[in-house]
Order: sequence, then C-alpha cells, then structure tokens
Amino acid sequence: MAAQGNADFDLFRTSEEHDMLRESVRGLAEAKIAPFAAEVDEQGRFPQEALDALVAADLHAVHVPEAYGGAGADALATVIVIEEVARVCASSSLIPAVNKLGSLPVVLSGSEELKAKYLGPLAKGDAMFSYCLSEPEAGSDAAGMKTKAVRDGDTYVLNGVKRWITNAGVSEFYTVMAVTDPEKRSKGISAFVVEKGDEGVSFGAPEKKLGIKGSPTREVYLDNVRVPADRMIGEEGTGFATAMKTLDHTRITIAAQALGIAQGALDYAKNYVHERRQFGKAIADFQGVQFMLADMAMKLEAARQLTYAAAAKSERVDGDLTFFGAAAKCFASDVAMEVTTDAVQLLGGYGYTRDYPVERMMRDAKITQIYEGTNQVQRIVMARNLPR
Ligand SMILES: Cc1cc2nc3c(=O)[nH]c(=O)nc-3n(C[C@H](O)[C@H](O)[C@H](O)COP(=O)(O)OP(=O)(O)OC[C@H]3O[C@@H](n4cnc5c(N)ncnc54)[C@H](O)[C@@H]3O)c2cc1C
Repeated sequence: MAAQGNADFDLFRTSEEHDMLRESVRGLAEAKIAPFAAEVDEQGRFPQEALDALVAADLHAVHVPEAYGGAGADALATVIVIEEVARVCASSSLIPAVNKLGSLPVVLSGSEELKAKYLGPLAKGDAMFSYCLSEPEAGSDAAGMKTKAVRDGDTYVLNGVKRWITNAGVSEFYTVMAVTDPEKRSKGISAFVVEKGDEGVSFGAPEKKLGIKGSPTREVYLDNVRVPADRMIGEEGTGFATAMKTLDHTRITIAAQALGIAQGALDYAKNYVHERRQFGKAIADFQGVQFMLADMAMKLEAARQLTYAAAAKSERVDGDLTFFGAAAKCFASDVAMEVTTDAVQLLGGYGYTRDYPVERMMRDAKITQIYEGTNQVQRIVMARNLPR
C-alpha cells in the first residue's frame, strides 16, 4: 500500500516505505502496463488495461485522504506512483496524475458534503476526475475565460467551452472554472463540480496529438448545464484562487511524469549501447557515448531531487511551494525533453523508428513543457515568487 500521509520525510532521501512503493509500482507497471504502451500510442486508444491494473492495486488516485476511502498517500508517494507508470507509459500516468488534478480543488476547498459525495467514488475506482480551466481563447491567460455560471434560485446555469481537457469523456466528474462576476476578472471566477451525466454536457472529437496519444484530450461543451448551488467548490469568487493553489501542488505531478519518461528513455539507451557494436566494439566503449549517458543521468538526478524537494513542500504546504512547484515542473520537463532526444540519438537510425520506444518517449516528453502552464508561464510564476 502507498506510504501514508507523512510530512516528516527527509527532503533528499526516500523512506523505506517509499522505496517499497516504488518497487511494487515498477513491478506492476512492467507486467501490466508496459506490454500495451506501444499499441496504445499507435492506436491512440485509452489504456484501459492500465486503468484496470491501477484500480485493482489501488494506485489510480492514491492522494485521496483516508477519511474519504482513499489510500491517503503523501505527495512524494503520489510522485513515485506517477513516475513509475510514466517510465513505461506516459499516457497511463495521466490516470493518477489527472485524478489528483481534477479532484484537488474539492480536497482543498470543497465542503464536507462535496468531499464525501465525489472523493468516495474516485477512491473506489468507480469514477475519474478531470480539470477544466483552459478554453479556446484562454490558455496562458486562464483568467480571461468566457465560460459563465449564472445563479438561478438554488442552481447555477453553466454555458461555455472548455478546451484541451485531459481524460474528457472517460471521467465521470469535472471541476469546471466559470465566471460568476465578469466585473471582477480572476476574483469573479468560481469552481463547480459538473458530472458527465448532467444534461447539456457533451464532448468534442479527440485531439490528434504528437504524443500522449492514449490520453484522450477533448473539448467539453456546457450548454445550459444546470447544477445545484451546493456543487460550487468553496465560496463564490474563489474558484481561480483554488485553481492556482491546485496547480502549485499538481505541477509536481507533471515533473514526476517528466522524470518517469526520461528514466524510461535513459534505461533503454543504457542497455542498447552495450548491445550495439560499431568499429568492432560496443558503442558503450566510446567516451563520447559515455559522456552523453553521464550528462543524461546527472540532469535526471538533479530534476528528481528538485521534484522530491517540491513534493515535501507540497506535503507541508510551505510558503515557497509556488516557486518550487513551478521550478520542478519547468526543470524536469526541460530535462525530459533533453534526455529523450539524446536517447533517440544514442540509438541512431533505430531510435528514429517506431520499432523502439524512445521516439514515443521523446514525443510524450514534449507535452510536459506545455501543460499545467507552459514553461514560459512557469518562469513568470517563479519570477513573481523568488525564494527569499
Ligand atoms: C495534451 C494537452 C492536455 C491538456 N490538458 C488540460 C486539462 O486537463 N485541463 C486544462 O484546463 N487545460 C489542459 N491543457 C491546456 C494547457 O494547459 C494549455 O495548452 C497551456 O496552458 C497553454 O495555453 P495555450 O495552448 O492556449 O497557449 P498560449 O497561451 O496561446 O501560448 C502560446 C505561446 O505563447 C507563450 N506565452 C503566452 N503568454 C506569455 C507570456 N505572458 N510571456 C511569455 N510567453 C507567453 C506560451 O508560453 C506559448 O509558448 C492541455 C493541453 C494539451 C495540449
């Protein structure tokens, strides 16, 4: 079982419990998720095998507190789960990652009733959760959103389009940010739980993407969707603050995904260079190749330490979490792009083909520099929150 909530773990060492968790997730990922990773990518289909295996092992939403039937895993344990799944299949790692992203607004700001109603089914594996912030015209400037929620008696009526929503259509529950007071910009945005079955909810066609092809990304259409007022998460006007607070914690899960993708590529390349022979010897014997592997491992370890430090800060909700969350996501995703690109290079022409997994890993790595805020946006966030 996942490591239980524990704010005291060492910043730079994982505990025995975390190590055991890693070992068991790695075993599960290699046995039950890796065999389908290439097919899921090739066919652009949802990794149902991964969802089934993660639910059976109670690893699909480990962050859900025990009080609501969850494993109550701490932030580092959640990172480890995502990292190990991403090491074999980045698309599948979006199951635990986006379950946290979608539901964290409820965990952080929801009423007891909302928590009991929505976290229980998530913990049981009966429902997944998506997060609906972005819109066609509001990406980096998310506060410029147009989706509206208008109060009508004891309900709100939602209208608008949310774009790029991960796991849309598969998830039962959606945290939707919508404008309740257009005069107040970010302070006039509120968050709601919308259910897939609510009348007026529908989905666009899956996007045709460069990578993470097994993770459905679709538009969510809200056409006069009427929800009870008690589905609002927190007070009216606090939705944008909740959305940003959520990202402080969940950018660390994207860093984890980046670490896993990079580790998968490094592991593959490390083995390959011992098998491939040129000039009468293994290419691993060339110093030029050794130095590339050394750089890849060095950058990856630096990214891992920063990510684990950020996870410790997430667990304790430290004052400098915003900086660390952005820094971990930005640094680890840049490292994942570099390491996967170098892995393709180390496999030469073979690396450029779909017969080997490293080109998939390189394509999958790219998204980690874009979502939950582009790396330019992370730099804006860091610059505004520099450590003292
Ligand atoms: C596969 C995928 C899954 C996603 N999943 C979700 C999801 O589940 N939920 C959700 O809400 N969103 C999701 N997103 C949306 C994602 O978070 C946005 O795509 C991202 O925030 C960037 O917004 P944009 O695409 O509109 O780019 P834009 O904001 O249009 O940016 C275009 C370029 O301009 C740069 N730029 C913009 N403003 C500035 C600035 N001030 N300074 C410097 N550079 C700037 C950006 O860095 C970028 O390089 C997903 C996106 C993708 C592609």
